[in-house]
Amino acid sequence: MRTNLLMILSGLLLSSAVAGALYEPAGEPFASIVVGGKGQAQIVTPAKPTTLEQFAASELQSYFEKISGAKLPIVEESQKDSVRYTFFLGNTRRALQAGVATDERTMGRDGFTLRSVSEGLIVLGRNQLGTLFGVYELLERYYDVRWFMPGDIGEYVPQHETLKMGQVNLTYKPSFRVRWVGLDEWALRQRMNVFVRIGKKNVGIKWKWNFHTFSKLMPPKKYYAEYPEYFAMVNGKRTVTDSKSHGNQLCTTNPDVIRIVGENLNAVLDADPDIEIITLSPNDGGGFCECDKCVALDEPGRDWFAKYSRRLAIFNNQIAKLVKQKHPDVLIKVGAYAMYARPPLDADYRPEENLFFQLCHLYFCHNHPLGSKGCKAGETYQPSKSFQPNQEFCKILDQWKDLSPHLFVYEYYTIGGTSRSNLPWPLVHTMRSDIPYYRDHGVEGFYSQQDGNLWHRLGLNYYVAAKLCWNADLNVDALLDDYFEKFYGSAAEPMRDYFMAMEQSMQQWNGCASYGLQGVNGLRVIGHKIFTPPVMQRMRGGLEQAEQLTAREKTLSARVAMVRKMFDETKTALEKIPRK
Ligand SMILES: [Zn+2]
Ligand SMILES: [Zn+2]
Repeated sequence: MRTNLLMILSGLLLSSAVAGALYEPAGEPFASIVVGGKGQAQIVTPAKPTTLEQFAASELQSYFEKISGAKLPIVEESQKDSVRYTFFLGNTRRALQAGVATDERTMGRDGFTLRSVSEGLIVLGRNQLGTLFGVYELLERYYDVRWFMPGDIGEYVPQHETLKMGQVNLTYKPSFRVRWVGLDEWALRQRMNVFVRIGKKNVGIKWKWNFHTFSKLMPPKKYYAEYPEYFAMVNGKRTVTDSKSHGNQLCTTNPDVIRIVGENLNAVLDADPDIEIITLSPNDGGGFCECDKCVALDEPGRDWFAKYSRRLAIFNNQIAKLVKQKHPDVLIKVGAYAMYARPPLDADYRPEENLFFQLCHLYFCHNHPLGSKGCKAGETYQPSKSFQPNQEFCKILDQWKDLSPHLFVYEYYTIGGTSRSNLPWPLVHTMRSDIPYYRDHGVEGFYSQQDGNLWHRLGLNYYVAAKLCWNADLNVDALLDDYFEKFYGSAAEPMRDYFMAMEQSMQQWNGCASYGLQGVNGLRVIGHKIFTPPVMQRMRGGLEQAEQLTAREKTLSARVAMVRKMFDETKTALEKIPRK
């Protein structure tokens, strides 16, 4: 009885009773695609299909077959049957004839149009990747296919002997131009465009390096022995270590450093002209140069978040100019992170237009939504030099927005936070409004940290992040309903209650959660505040009920077993964390 009451309460709190449909259905009239397991339609590609167009056709064919058992033929346009319903994929003559235009304004980099015509449906992307994304959108919106996590276990394919297609006229522009949540096949099906591959071939944005690249651009091994002056002076000495990612900062006012870093960046771009985004950023950690020339560029009196902002803003602009001369279309990703999170104060500061600013939401709050006033000094946090409330992050975001159209947000929905201590990291309550907030504040690219081994613990975060990154307008209540219903089937309600118990506990605890406050060791100190005995009790109740309900269903019980693994890890982790 108690569980049922809690379930009803949680349903009211986090999932509105009538969430509505996730997607609007196609309109009348409907044509037959498959009837009684027999195909009535065909998939048409242009006369000389590209690899991506072929792949789009084979994905559509394969999923129609998985749903209905019918394998629709894939034919080139000149060979098509003129009677059958036709899916026209990519740059077909039919798409041209129908006047389907592809443009940046309505489709972004890789959006698409799905448009019904008398003989069938045109699927045409802004580019070839967009056509493939159009196919995935078609399968998801109108045929209820879902990719909840990588592999067969994550796939949801309904079974129908009869399939129809109605009238559609949808031109879609992705919410972010640069989208990076997850990797490879799963990410591709979520319509991400960074680190997405078909086989071994990269089909997304050509992207070089993630972050922290000083050591790549000026390796100490190559330069230090002869030119120690290229490296940062710390405590009066210019020394380097073996680390490839931390320390080993550069003396960014040395003219030779500026010249060589520019040359080395250009050399990488010369060697691979397809690169669209390349990263220029200090190594992680501290150790910035203390020489007189470097220090003279800093702004005395500013806080920790602006300690090195000005010197790096100047350096970044100098390198950007050198790269622009040779590779004007490449974006150079630089950081707005930690001790250089804030822009410099110079009234005349203008970043070069080929810079792409990565704003890391690390030393700010993960528990209160952006745009809210949830972070309260003395109440939800005790002021600390390396923490700022989200209200301040929003201000910084707006300041950068006024300076550059190219902003990229780096989020921590995954391996950071309490997950570092093997605890769950329930953040759907902030993601659901933060990702739309980023889109509404002009952010161009979105990324969240990820770890492919933690799907059992963080799968819901990954899934919601990817869905909103692609489409920030999705109704999140409907998205969650859809997730629990399709992923957990008969165990939907107890599984919803399990996850909502964690989300609600995080919200009710109401503290600010951040590396800047609780330290880099995974915020484990808040574990006991969130995963209290009553919350663990409620989670256990949901889990045990789900296990009973799915005992005879192979796929569902395998999914519930992942939650069991998460629960057991949580229990073990809590036992190891001191209560004080
Ligand atoms: Zn220096
Ligand atoms: Zn907060």
